[in-house]
Amino acid sequence: MSVTEMSRTARGSNSATQQAMLETAATTRLLEAEGILDYSGHVSTRIPGRDAFVIQIGSTSRAEVTLESMLVVDYDGNVLEGDGQPPSELPIHLEILRARPDVQSVLHSHMELAIAFTMMEGVTLVPMRARASRWKSGIPIDPDPSHIKLREQGRSLARTLGPHHAVLMRAHGLCLVAETVRALFVDAVHFKENATALMQTLQAGAKPIPLTEAEIAQIEKMEMREWHIKKLWNYYVRKALDEQVLPQAWKDALVPTREMLTRAPGL
Ligand SMILES: [Zn+2]
Repeated sequence: MSVTEMSRTARGSNSATQQAMLETAATTRLLEAEGILDYSGHVSTRIPGRDAFVIQIGSTSRAEVTLESMLVVDYDGNVLEGDGQPPSELPIHLEILRARPDVQSVLHSHMELAIAFTMMEGVTLVPMRARASRWKSGIPIDPDPSHIKLREQGRSLARTLGPHHAVLMRAHGLCLVAETVRALFVDAVHFKENATALMQTLQAGAKPIPLTEAEIAQIEKMEMREWHIKKLWNYYVRKALDEQVLPQAWKDALVPTREMLTRAPGL
């Protein structure tokens, strides 16, 4: 089935809605393939020009989401479009998106490696690898270990997140936030790499040497975030198409063109 045909069955949504659905579905499949999502966890993405966002039907396999698995939900939690129930932890997305107008996309995952850092006395998840400069402001830990089913719990989580780009959830999981759903995917890859690096250091019995402020300043001076996101997105999407993690029909809508992958002079 082509994207056009799929779009036709996507309940007559406008193109911004369909693009948000497609990118969120693709990101969900990519995150599942990378072991960041599994049988649970979810991604939400705002729809430009609408007072609503997309999120998958809670019961759909993260490895099989399509446009038809996506719901359009408003910021009060009402399902505006789609046939199914959102994930029970919808309040995570509602309250973070409400609290953070700068954020376009939210990931909630139960990544084991991240959870481990909420269960170790005297160990804090800090930036170790260069790409983890993204989390230089800190990665707070929310104390509520339970399922986030109530709006008040979601508000509390959003308060713990504050202005940061990541929040760990005690014995439960994490949330990441970013300016686009593609950026969110790339951040998730680097979040896992950084947690792995710190865990390996600890497992080696060595004292971790996190990035210093001066090192982070130097990294940021050389940073090309927008370009880097395009490069990684291109790599993971193409690989996933080859491995049939993503349907071939999504190719044209997801793979960056050669022009998009050309760096501006001097970069
Ligand atoms: Zn959860």
